[in-house]
Amino acid sequence: MVLKRSKSASASPILASAAPPELSAFEVTLRPKSLTEYVGQSKIKVHLLMHIQAAMSRKEPLGHTLLHGPPGLGKTTLAHILAREMGAQIRITSGPALEKPGDLASILSNLQQGDALFIDEIHRLRPVVEEMLYAAMEDYALDLVIGKGPTARSMRLTLKPFTLIGATTKAGSMSAPLRDRFIHHFKLAFYELPEMQQIVERSGQLLRVPLQSDAAHRIACSSRATPRIANRLLRAVRDYAHVQGDGTVDRACVETTLRALDIDDRGLDATDRLILGAIVNTFNGGPVGLGTIAAVLAEDEDTVEDVYEPYLLQQGYLQRTPKGRMATKKAYELLGLQVPEGAQVTLF
Ligand code: ADP
Repeated sequence: MVLKRSKSASASPILASAAPPELSAFEVTLRPKSLTEYVGQSKIKVHLLMHIQAAMSRKEPLGHTLLHGPPGLGKTTLAHILAREMGAQIRITSGPALEKPGDLASILSNLQQGDALFIDEIHRLRPVVEEMLYAAMEDYALDLVIGKGPTARSMRLTLKPFTLIGATTKAGSMSAPLRDRFIHHFKLAFYELPEMQQIVERSGQLLRVPLQSDAAHRIACSSRATPRIANRLLRAVRDYAHVQGDGTVDRACVETTLRALDIDDRGLDATDRLILGAIVNTFNGGPVGLGTIAAVLAEDEDTVEDVYEPYLLQQGYLQRTPKGRMATKKAYELLGLQVPEGAQVTLF
C-alpha cells in the first residue's frame, strides 16, 4: 500500500516538504532504526520500552498506539521502530488513502499474527472506514455486509491479533470512539537544542558531510526544533558547500544558505513573518480567525495550522484564544514594533 500524503505545498522550500509525497532515499538513510538511535523523546521511549517488554513476555501484540504531534517530529520513524523492536512486519497506509471500507478490509484481512498497521493522518479517515476499524481494534473482527437489499446479510470475519499505530497532527479532530480505542497515547514534543544538534551531527555522519561543530549548532538553532527540517537544512547546506567550496560545512556556509532561504536566527522564515505581520499590521494584533490568516497568505488552513502555527505557539509569538489568533509582545518585538497603547497582548 502506497503512503499517500496530501497536504498542499507551502511557500517555504524547507517547510514545504514537511509532508513529502514520497519518502526519498535521503530520508530513509537518515531514519533511526532503533529506540537507541532515536534521539530525544526520552519519557516516551521509557514507557514504550516497558510496554514492549511486557507485551513480548506475554507473547501479545503491543496494544494500539496513537502518536500525536506536528509534522516532522518522528511519528512515522517511531512507528517503524516499534514494529522492528516487536519483531513484527509493518504495513503502511494513511487516512486519505483508504477511500472505501473495502480498502481497509483487504489490508486487515492480510495482516499476519502480531503485525503492525500504521495509519498516518488517521484523523482524516472517512467515517465509513473508521467504523469498520472499531470492531477490528476491539475484537480483532471484521464485520462485513454481503449482498444488497432484503437478501443482505452480515458476516463476522476473525482477524489475527495486530497492533494499530495511528499518527495524527490533530488529535482533537479525531472522533472520541476512535481515540478511546487506542491503549497508548503519546504526544511528541518539540526537541531541545542539544537534541537537535545531536540529530544534525548524526545525519552529518551518515551522509559523510564534513560538518564543523558550530555549523551543526547553527543548523540546529534554525530548524524549528524539528528533525525533518534539520535534515532538509543540512542537505541544502551540503549542496551549497559542494558548489561554493570544498564540501566542508562551516558556519559561514550555513549562514549564507540560511540567508538564501530567508530563514532568520530563530529559525523563522518569510511565511512566519508574514503571518505575524498580517496579525499585527492588518488586524491590530488580533484576534483573527485561522481562515482569514490563510486567505491573506493564499495558503490552505491545514498548512497554516499544522506546519506554521505549532512552532509559533510553542515559541510564544502567537496565542490561541476562543476568538482567534493573537500576536504576543514577543511578536511585536520580532517585527521591530512597539505594542500600541491599550492593546491586549500576552507579555511573553
Ligand atoms: P513525522 O512522521 O512525525 O512527520 P518522520 O518520522 O517522518 O516525522 O521524521 C522525519 C525525519 O526526521 C525522519 O526521516 C528522520 O530522519 C528524522 N527524525 C525524526 N525523529 C527523529 C529522532 N528522534 N532522532 C533522529 N532523527 C529523527
